[in-house]
Amino acid sequence: MMSNLNKMAKRILNEIERFEYSSFMVGTILDSDIIEREDVIRSEFKVKGGEPIKSEITKELSRLIKRTNGRTISLNRPELNILVNTLLDEIEVSSRSIFLMGKYVKNKRGINQKKQRCKQCKSEGCKKCRFSGFMRVPSVENEIHKFLIKKFNANKVKISWIGSEDRNSLVKYNGRPFFAEVSSPIKRKALFREKKMNHGIIIKSVEILRKRPIIDQGFIMKAIVNFESNLKDTKRLERIEKYFSERDISIYSMNKNKYFTRRVRSIKLKKVSGKRFTVELICEGGINIKKLVSGENEQVKPNFRKVMRIKCSVDKIAPFDIHYVKVQESEKR
Ligand SMILES: [Zn+2]
Repeated sequence: MMSNLNKMAKRILNEIERFEYSSFMVGTILDSDIIEREDVIRSEFKVKGGEPIKSEITKELSRLIKRTNGRTISLNRPELNILVNTLLDEIEVSSRSIFLMGKYVKNKRGINQKKQRCKQCKSEGCKKCRFSGFMRVPSVENEIHKFLIKKFNANKVKISWIGSEDRNSLVKYNGRPFFAEVSSPIKRKALFREKKMNHGIIIKSVEILRKRPIIDQGFIMKAIVNFESNLKDTKRLERIEKYFSERDISIYSMNKNKYFTRRVRSIKLKKVSGKRFTVELICEGGINIKKLVSGENEQVKPNFRKVMRIKCSVDKIAPFDIHYVKVQESEKR
């Protein structure tokens, strides 16, 4: 067992040297032996004062550590949590999660946004997926993951998306925002600049947040949609634009088995050539753009097909590109 607190403090300092942190907290798990032999231990550890031995040890260790590293002792939200377990003669160090908001751009079609679950093992882990549970195909998620793990020398990153795009969509300009929780970071003071990743993905910015973000915020987005239709009468374009201006759209959620509403702010239709049209669509997040155009299964109502009374279908190679995604302050929901 530890011969004295000074030695233990040194051991802790050695253990936490690799972490970046500005505040810390020490906790202890004492074996019953220590508590029973409190008097003996007091003299062995040279602990004075009348407080219970546990808090005396914790306090003294914190003081000794602070004397060397000069960091703040924080009992509320320490960046580093140090747990001394005398029972197992172990020091457990955990660092507080970092929450951040970033933005990415995607310049190449055919790249999934999210990691794809392994079809072979349904995410349980098998030889094919090298026991990761995910298919070994490129994705935005993978690239963000790699970037953040490296940046913070962390062991786990969890991404929360602000809407999703098609694998054949591009994400342009300032990019689509995302939230991430970085668990057990060793580094916390990372500097950011735009970073080109693989597969045409660029991490535009990363901003560290003060606290855990509220994830279910709504957002407004602008997309340029490419679709085909037999619409000949171009006079009708204006009428359709008018129809969809500030129009509430009813969307059926298969997962939740219920309807919810999102608003289309505006659409601008343009005939490109022959059957090809583009729509500049500004709407609230949560509308399935492909179904808004095609009217497939009537899950999005009203939809282009129904209003135009003509078959409409989104381009397969370049269905829609995201021009901006703006997170709304939580005014509703
Ligand atoms: Zn697998």
